[in-house]
This record gives sequence, structure tokens and C-alpha cells, in this order.
Amino acid sequence: METVDLVIKNAAQLLIPKKDNARATLKIISDGAVACSGERIVATGKTADVIASIKNSKATRVIDASGMVVAPGFVDPHTHPVFFGSREHEFHLRNSGKSYTEIAEAGGGIRCSVRQLRRASKQQLIQHCLPHLDHFIENGTTTIEAKSGYGLTLDDEIKSLEVIHELNRLHPIDLVATFLGAHEIPDEYRSRHEDYVRLVIEEMIPRVAELQLAEFCDVFCESHVFNSDQSERILTAAKQYGFKVKIHADQLTSGGGAALAAKLKAVSADHLDHINDQAIQQLKNAGTIPVLLPGAVFFLGLTQYAPARKLLDAGLPVALATDFNPGSCMTESLPMMMTLASIYLKMTSEEVWCATTIHAAQAIARPGKIGTLENGALADIVIWNIPNYQYLPYHFGVNLVNCVLKRGKIVREKN
Ligand SMILES: [Zn+2]
Repeated sequence: METVDLVIKNAAQLLIPKKDNARATLKIISDGAVACSGERIVATGKTADVIASIKNSKATRVIDASGMVVAPGFVDPHTHPVFFGSREHEFHLRNSGKSYTEIAEAGGGIRCSVRQLRRASKQQLIQHCLPHLDHFIENGTTTIEAKSGYGLTLDDEIKSLEVIHELNRLHPIDLVATFLGAHEIPDEYRSRHEDYVRLVIEEMIPRVAELQLAEFCDVFCESHVFNSDQSERILTAAKQYGFKVKIHADQLTSGGGAALAAKLKAVSADHLDHINDQAIQQLKNAGTIPVLLPGAVFFLGLTQYAPARKLLDAGLPVALATDFNPGSCMTESLPMMMTLASIYLKMTSEEVWCATTIHAAQAIARPGKIGTLENGALADIVIWNIPNYQYLPYHFGVNLVNCVLKRGKIVREKN
């Protein structure tokens, strides 16, 4: 009988996303409990069964979750948190009729954030990022994938990735680093795109690999940024240096990004608002996880959302992410994404829970380790002040978190 450090008991519902063929299902245990030892989950089940199977010590903490839902901490598999300053002026320009592309062509958009980041020191960036990481935790997220991509010089990309590593040390949330040097063509390369592609391939990728600063490499594959051929060359080079790959694919047009993700056996293909039927099948065959970002469509005031039902009906394990960034989606809230996915992607409540937990963990190559409450997983757990799992996407725009545990420790409690 194992001595445990923490028991959460009497939950109205304990949610255990479980792998079931390609897609996961949500196992729901009423009057559920979960027990943890150190950083790990060691038992789950009905409260009476869990209590009978464990031993408490004097130091064991017991939390009564009566009337509440206990679930894995959310995993956000697509964020751009390393930026400096904000772009609320563009948000209001868009709402008064300017398009995202018009603003970008006038020097705004990603290139505006690039100028802001280049001026910031590493210390300033860290101070700027920390409150955003608090917002993730406050909204129930315990792991995020974090991209560079607002530096776009060798030094500024390395600075951004070093900030991600430093944040991992300073903050309880876990960050998984992605190198996104191919996020945009910087001002100084506007008339010579190929030279920038060469810089990414020949200097940035080898250096980031040598310094072991990122696990993934990502590309914004779109005809006006990095076309399919350039994206393929960048990601092929990245794979040779040992990176796992991801693609910003088929966001604004059907630009071949999803097909390329399948061809390269990318871990994930993200956005997919304009994916075609053939590419859906290709993703399925390649085992690439679709990561949908309805917040970006919503925040940009667009109308074409990803064909989530087609992806799900093809058996794909759809994940959801915030796309948190200062231009096209300024929110750290995955519950908000669950609401948008319910309304606009027509996903069921079981599907949105799996999409923000177990499938999101697959999208950052951590299946079984996070995004579930199965034995052996990290004790990343959220207690929600809601009566059942269907309630969370329904009651939107307010914070329903009661308590967040990261690696078995309480990191956020409702006052
Ligand atoms: Zn993105």
C-alpha cells in the first residue's frame, strides 16, 4: 500500500481522458478521487476505492472536492508568449475596417512585434512574460508550448529561446520550446526572401540545435510568408538537426501546408482553417495531430473556421490551442477556446475536453505524461467550481477555477 502526499476526494466528476484507438474518450467517474505521491498520480477511481488502496501519513494533504469537477491541467500546444509591448491599436484599426493584411503591409502585424522585441533586453522580456504565465495557470493551463519568432535575427531568436528556458526555471508552468525563426520575413529582408530562408537554414537552425534551445521547429507556411517549397527546405534541415516539426498550415489559404506536414510526418499541423479533404486523409495516414485555433479566427473577425467535424469524423485526434499572441489572439484562456469550439467547430463537450488535455499532449509529443489523470502521469490537476464537465464551455467569460496543482503542488487557489 502506497503512502501518498495528496488526496483529492468526493469529486462530483473525475475526468480521465483515455486513449481509445486513434482518438481519446473521456472517462467520467462520479464521486471520484485522485491520489498523488510526489510529482505523480498513483491512484484514481471511486473515492471509497482510492481511500482503501492508499495509506495516508501525517503530512498527507486531503482536499474535499464535493460538488466540483476534477480534471487534468490543460495543455496549450500552440502559443507565442515571448513578445514585448502590445498591439491594441491594431485591434481597434481592424474593427474600424482595416484588414490584417493591410495592417501587415503598412509595417504593422508581426513585424511591429519584431521591432519591439529587438529593443528589449532578456530581463525586460522575462518581466513582461511572467504575468502572462500567471494568466495561463489562473485559467487552468499547466503546460504550454512556447514559440520564438519575434526576433528574426540569430541573436534575437536565441534571446527569445533563452527567455523561454529561464521562464521554465522561474515559473511553475512547464514550457516546451519551439524555434520559429520562419515566422515572418523581417524588414531588412523584404526584397530578398531567399536570403532570409538561407539564414534560417544555414545559421539559425544549426546554432539553436547546438545550444539545445528548442525541441520543435515550426514554419509559417503561407504563400506571402514562407511558401510550401521554402517551408519544406527549412523543416527538412530542422529534422536533420534532430528537431521535431510543426507547421502553421492552411490558415489563410489552402497553401499546401497540411499536405507538407503529412509528407514530413510533422508532430502537428496547426490552424487548418482552409484544409482540403485530401489533406485531411494525408494527416490521418501520417499520424500528424491537427491543432485548431478558433480564437484566431474569432479575434480577427473572420468567418471560416477549420472543418473540425470532418477531421473528427475521419478519426483524427483534434487538439485545441489558444495561439496566444499580441496580434491575432490575445488570450491565455483555453476555456474560452472550448466555448468557441463548441459553437463554431461543432465539437461535443467530450471532444473539447479531450482536445485541451490528452490530444494537446500528443501535439507536443508528451502522450501519457500530461493531459491525463492516469497512473504515472504528472500530478497536474485542476479543481473546477462547476457541477459537471458540460458546464465549462457553457458558462463563458468568467473564471471557474477553484484550485490548480502543478506537479503535486498547489499553485493557484481561489481566494
Ligand atoms: Zn501561431
